[in-house]
Amino acid sequence: MRDEIHRSEKLNVLGELAATIAHEIRNPLTVSKGFIQLIKSRSNNDIDLKYSTLALEEIDRAESIISEYLMYAKPQADKIEKVNVKEHLNAVLKIIESYIISHGHTVIHNNEDDLYIHADAKKFTQVMINLIKNAVEAMEQDGQLTINVYASNNQVVIDIIDTGVGMTKDQISRLGVPFYSTKDKGTGLGLMVCFRIVEALNGKIQAESTKGLGTKFSVVIPSALEK
Ligand code: ADP
Ligand code: MG
Repeated sequence: MRDEIHRSEKLNVLGELAATIAHEIRNPLTVSKGFIQLIKSRSNNDIDLKYSTLALEEIDRAESIISEYLMYAKPQADKIEKVNVKEHLNAVLKIIESYIISHGHTVIHNNEDDLYIHADAKKFTQVMINLIKNAVEAMEQDGQLTINVYASNNQVVIDIIDTGVGMTKDQISRLGVPFYSTKDKGTGLGLMVCFRIVEALNGKIQAESTKGLGTKFSVVIPSALEK
């Protein structure tokens, strides 16, 4: 099952007004969170503790929707530079490795050559972290995360492969649709952000998956040829 995913039509639905609205919502949330934490710390009543914990979890969820959405909506100029994909992924893995290992998974990183792309390094990091996080979340204990980086037809390909729950063709076709999530605490915004960032680099993200066996996401970005 192999699908190339074009998301631009779906992305256009979301306006830039979102950034302003998100800021306005974030402030009252922060204030409410502070008061609920205060109530929680002062109470020794089980029911109060239970409800304040639930309320805090819901506020965290709202906050993560806003952060992921803001990331996408914020009108900011890209800082395009030449990125050494190997060095970059080594750095990303340093940040996220303990998260992967703490979930009981192992990582294999096959990345031999120095390959270069033109990208905004921070946004490229965001793409890698979102895809790796999804891979980790898709796997039960003892999963295997494999990252392969190689060149193909003047493009750099980064495969992120997991041994997780996998997806049906129908699920693959929904990837990147805002708020599409199958997770209790998911935002359904991570992939939308990834698609948008990679499309802006004239690249693409492909997904191949088998339900119950695992998934491969391939990020394909034009090479920056000269060293
Ligand atoms: P979220 O992670 O918050 O749910 P995403 O946009 O990152 O939002 O992903 C959307 C959905 O795509 C997920 O809820 C999941 O159903 C599916 N998905 C993404 N990556 C994978 C993966 N590696 N394996 C299986 N399903 C995945
Ligand atoms: Mg995600």
